Amino acid sequence: MIRLVNPLSKTLIASLVAVMTLLFVATTLLPYAPARVEARQYFSTDEIDLALEYTFQRRLFFWGTTAVEIALLCVFALTPVGRQLGDRFLDWTGQRRVPAALMFGLVFFILDQLLYLPISVARFYHAKDWGMTNLELADWLRDRGISIGIDLVSRAIIGAGLYTLLIVLPRTWWLLAPLGGGALGVTYAFLAPILINPLFNDFTPLAETEWQHHQPRVRALIDEAKVPVEEILVMNASRQSNHTNAYFAGFGSTRRIVLYDTLLKKSSPEEIESVLGHELGHWMHDHIVKGLLLGLLAAIVACLALDRLLRAAVGHAPWNLQSTADPAGVPLVLLIVFVGSWASAPLQNGISRHFEREADQASLKLVGLPQVFIDIEIKMARINIANVAPTPWNVWLFSSHPPTLERIRMANEWKERH
Ligand SMILES: [Zn+2]
Repeated sequence: MIRLVNPLSKTLIASLVAVMTLLFVATTLLPYAPARVEARQYFSTDEIDLALEYTFQRRLFFWGTTAVEIALLCVFALTPVGRQLGDRFLDWTGQRRVPAALMFGLVFFILDQLLYLPISVARFYHAKDWGMTNLELADWLRDRGISIGIDLVSRAIIGAGLYTLLIVLPRTWWLLAPLGGGALGVTYAFLAPILINPLFNDFTPLAETEWQHHQPRVRALIDEAKVPVEEILVMNASRQSNHTNAYFAGFGSTRRIVLYDTLLKKSSPEEIESVLGHELGHWMHDHIVKGLLLGLLAAIVACLALDRLLRAAVGHAPWNLQSTADPAGVPLVLLIVFVGSWASAPLQNGISRHFEREADQASLKLVGLPQVFIDIEIKMARINIANVAPTPWNVWLFSSHPPTLERIRMANEWKERH
């Protein structure tokens, strides 16, 4: 009988499952009392418990999709299935490696989407039950179809670029791929506001909306922060949900500030300024440029690691790659990317939380209304049913923003100092 799983694969699968199970237990099953006590100053026990329940249920969906992903990766990347399918795709494409790699990627993508679909539909109805989405199923399916299409095209471009570089420049590809990726990232950031975002929402200049009376104050704040944006747009975010937010988008001539209509509907001018002040803070601290440079550095380290791991798989079971550019290595590449993104998540989120703290400080300094800042934090946590008592493990692994209580504490400290 052919041994499906060799000892190395067995060890890798066992380690992967063990680490992910530990993370699941640490982030989802462990209770954490201290934050609950502090949260009671601002939220009722019912609110805290409801948010804990909601977060817990959402985490179960998240871990469900993660389990599907791991199972699929284990089957394709850690058994001889990858080699066999790789050979088949090479036959079909007349031994042309780039099309064979793309074909393999496509098969993996379709399987992943099919397995993920039931969970994702259940997730939609769950959000509907909790009043967290304003979409109907048909609109949700339409949006999801467009997202999947964009995702597929992006992955095809990245995959074709990667395998072309692996074939043409097998020794230096790991240095050039991040530069190419960076250029693609900047192009995407430039085009997204004009080509992609309008597929999901309408964007109207603030001066042409019913909230035009906010225009002078918003403009004055932007000028005070010396941020060079031409356009202030309102997005009909209420199409998707009641979340309130504002964000920066674009590069160069497509640069704009976007305000959610949900924010304008429900907030006082001071509250809008406080939220906007945070976004301007990101700009004042150069977070976009810093983020790009850090991303470039991380991509170089990641591609170098990928190069060394692919080399180690050449001629070794279960992969038996003929070279690093062998299409049979596609699932292994996907597995390495998966493990790498989990391993780097705490660092990435740590940096993101640092940026968010800086933006919060900038907002307090610019607008100078700490109590308004605190009121918005409480209001947003209620609208988003945010978990205001997350365990330290959750913050460490998942939080791109500081927890609500930490942001409130920071505003209180600022208030005392000024
Ligand atoms: Zn932010």
